[in-house]
Amino acid sequence: MKLLNAIQKHAELQPQTAAFHSQGRSLTYQELWESSDRAAASIQKSMAGQPEAPVLVYGHMEPEMAVSFLGSVKAGHPYIPVDTSIPADRILKIIENSGAELLINVSGLPLDTGSHLIKTVSPEELLSNGEGPISRDHWVKEHETFYIIYTSGSTGNPKGVQISARNLQSFADWICADFPIGEGKTFLNQAPFSFDLSVMDLYPCLQSGGTLHCVTKDAVNKPKILFEELKQSGLNVWTSTPSFAQVCLMDPAFTEELLPEAKVFMFCGEALPTSVAQALLERFPQAKVFNTYGPTEATVAVTSVEITPEVIEQNEFLPVGFEKPDMDILIMDEQGNKLPDGEKGEIIISGPSVSKGYLGEPELTDNVFFFHEGQPAYRTGDAGYKENGQIFCQGRLDFQIKLHGYRMELEEIEFHVRQSQYVRSAVVIPYQPNGAVEYLIAAIVPDDHEFQKEFQLTSAIKKELATFLPAYMIPRKFIYQDHIHMTANGKIDRKRIGEEVLV
Ligand code: AMP
Repeated sequence: MKLLNAIQKHAELQPQTAAFHSQGRSLTYQELWESSDRAAASIQKSMAGQPEAPVLVYGHMEPEMAVSFLGSVKAGHPYIPVDTSIPADRILKIIENSGAELLINVSGLPLDTGSHLIKTVSPEELLSNGEGPISRDHWVKEHETFYIIYTSGSTGNPKGVQISARNLQSFADWICADFPIGEGKTFLNQAPFSFDLSVMDLYPCLQSGGTLHCVTKDAVNKPKILFEELKQSGLNVWTSTPSFAQVCLMDPAFTEELLPEAKVFMFCGEALPTSVAQALLERFPQAKVFNTYGPTEATVAVTSVEITPEVIEQNEFLPVGFEKPDMDILIMDEQGNKLPDGEKGEIIISGPSVSKGYLGEPELTDNVFFFHEGQPAYRTGDAGYKENGQIFCQGRLDFQIKLHGYRMELEEIEFHVRQSQYVRSAVVIPYQPNGAVEYLIAAIVPDDHEFQKEFQLTSAIKKELATFLPAYMIPRKFIYQDHIHMTANGKIDRKRIGEEVLV
């Protein structure tokens, strides 16, 4: 695989260059290559006889995450990145659904895998149990799965998007060729590895011989530490959600002076507000700002556009841009007819970036994946239109939302709220006063309980939810009602509930 060959070449030609930097720890290209070879040999030993089983890698942004990812694919196994922010019960569902046979716990935190027979190893055990180099014959092949990222699913269970080596290579080649990045640059990694936005920096960085500079969630939560770290980073390529940049922009110190080498800002994962793009162009006059768009199912991003002052002037809502050259993006109506320019419909993505589907979920896969003119295609569920070759994304056709860059299905959250022993029925409503979702509100009909005060009930429900859902999926506000409104045809009347809870 070209990506792995490129990393190997960097390990030979620039062995001492830092490939990965996180929490004050660095990993050179030589260390990354040799350690991942040892990890691969060790993974092969542990997983003999299970050629297809994925490896679950649990941690945050430790250098051993990258070693484990590469070790897995060099051993011919896909990996599943699982961030430490994911609660244990959700991880159990991921283990169950994926059939993962090995868990590399790089976090140093305890993780209870319940009754699952999955073998757990620490990075130290992993590295002491194998000898490199490993033959490239074992590497994951073009059509095999490279990674599996679990996203929110409407049935209450996360679903695993399988991304092949070919999908990923096509993506990494596009970023390296079509964006003004060059070689040997320092990239920001802000997104946890369980979120595919992280792929936008990790692999283009490694393919182009750059250094990945991770800012951990601890740093993100402490602006002083974050800014100190950014100042030291020397970063050239900024990749994040627009929300993260928006938070940084609240501090007047977030300027070219803080990041004098920042030349490219790349955004994906949610709508880029005009105000964010405008402020960045003003504060970083040397830099270029790109808006990109795509779902995990089509490997991170499939459109892009440089946001210039002219683009801002011409558009109230920014476009998501032009297709990646090997992709075809269509707008279709509900019957699957292709719509002409300017007409609004569902955004359909087709081409080599599209995943083969959800692991172990043929029905869910058939619902949204199909073939279009011989190419794999995916129904995004996003509303949009095309004009002069540019795509405009106008939000969702269903209940999937984005909150601070995190993708989630309201139905999944509702499913878990309704499971609570204190809840008879519930609806989750996004609070979005100006278009973007600011937080979630749960409207609840409570079951019998012994709490005197509503806040006690809320905290009991939140406590239960925390065992299933990551913190970012737990509603912030809880409102108690005596019944849930229905429409005339018996559906939950979300509109009416929304109007009531939002007054
Ligand atoms: P994820 O799979 O987490 O990357 O989420 C994919 C979804 O995020 C897409 O289907 C869109 O709804 C939304 N999204 C991603 N990028 C953009 C963008 N640039 N503008 C608007 N929405 C976006």
